[in-house]
Amino acid sequence: MEFVEYDDKFPMTEEFFDAIFRGQEALDRVKCRENVAALGAVLANQSQRDGGVYPGLGLEQKPFLFGGEAFANLDIGLLRCPRMGYEGESHEEILDDADYIYLGYAVRSQEDLEAYMDAYVAVEGNVEAFMALDEIVGPEGRLERLRSGLPDSDSIPVLIEFNHYGGGHVLYLDGHIEYIADETKFPMTEAAFDAISRGRDGVDKAACQKRLTALGESLATYSKDGGGRYPGLAAEHEPFLFDEEALAKLDIGFLRCPAYREEGESDEYILEDADYIYLGFAVGSQAEIDAYMEAYLAAEGDMKAFSAQETLPGPQGDIARLRADLPNPASIPVLVEWWTLHEPDGGHVLYLDGHVEYIVMDDKFPMTEAFFDALDPAWEPSLLEEFLWWLTDGLLDY
Ligand SMILES: [Zn+2]
Ligand SMILES: [Zn+2]
Repeated sequence: MEFVEYDDKFPMTEEFFDAIFRGQEALDRVKCRENVAALGAVLANQSQRDGGVYPGLGLEQKPFLFGGEAFANLDIGLLRCPRMGYEGESHEEILDDADYIYLGYAVRSQEDLEAYMDAYVAVEGNVEAFMALDEIVGPEGRLERLRSGLPDSDSIPVLIEFNHYGGGHVLYLDGHIEYIADETKFPMTEAAFDAISRGRDGVDKAACQKRLTALGESLATYSKDGGGRYPGLAAEHEPFLFDEEALAKLDIGFLRCPAYREEGESDEYILEDADYIYLGFAVGSQAEIDAYMEAYLAAEGDMKAFSAQETLPGPQGDIARLRADLPNPASIPVLVEWWTLHEPDGGHVLYLDGHVEYIVMDDKFPMTEAFFDALDPAWEPSLLEEFLWWLTDGLLDY
């Protein structure tokens, strides 16, 4: 045996390992291509049974994957590129993040793809309605449902793989498979990938916007009983939540962004981890949130007393308690979504007039880093609480 320093002598050389790596890469590509071909055969066979029409999108799976019989009889492992998988990966994990994308319509260009995503987002996640469209009105005519025998079938992608060593495999409707390097040809482009992300997140955003609109309506109705006054802040639970009286009248599930709702979450759990922030006062600028937080912290947790105030001292005049009849309601935020839930970073804001906007992080108040930083101290335990923790911890140690 001989110990050879790296780069001293063959085979301990960069060239040697590069060659090995190229060999591995070539092997992975062959295996991936086999996967894509096997998936293609499943789809083609199913379409033969269905008079040439390819399967629709799956109703149960994450977008974008085929459903129906083709999915029911599928070896789920085929949805994972051989270079990506690891031993013991569950079907759920693979389905959560499949490596091949299926659109179900004949999408030939970036323009087609944008039209597809517009239509997809417009049905707000109702995949059944989306597949029932039968054709989508695109920029240059219509996008038809995928079926065998469409014109230009050698340029209609059926399955698209992203991120396989700087490119990916594409299966076309005529059955041929190409490995396309990144940015050399549609659909292997960042723009195509962005459009697909937009479609995925667009459905979540539409649902979130609906939820906030409904919350806004509930709050407006609630305020009528109180002569226009909006709820105060909760005395228990997390900071920046409606008071208990208002919570009793609301659907607690509405405090969770629909994109993040998990099966079987209890109301108690949601109340400790709500996705929307409620301040209870008309805070319209960074200087005002700073002043608000000063008053908030001065209340030392007595949210009843804090909420009983009609105004807080602000940098330029008073900060008004949220009421239905405040001037310029279109510019007064009522609920602010946590900035980490959607893409790109940012979130929805419900305004007092009932409209909802998606604001990209740091584009505009209150969707700014400084705003969220200002709220931080509200989650810090009081000195008394810290002392009590220290005391109980200390006692438990002995
Ligand atoms: Zn691959
Ligand atoms: Zn949301």
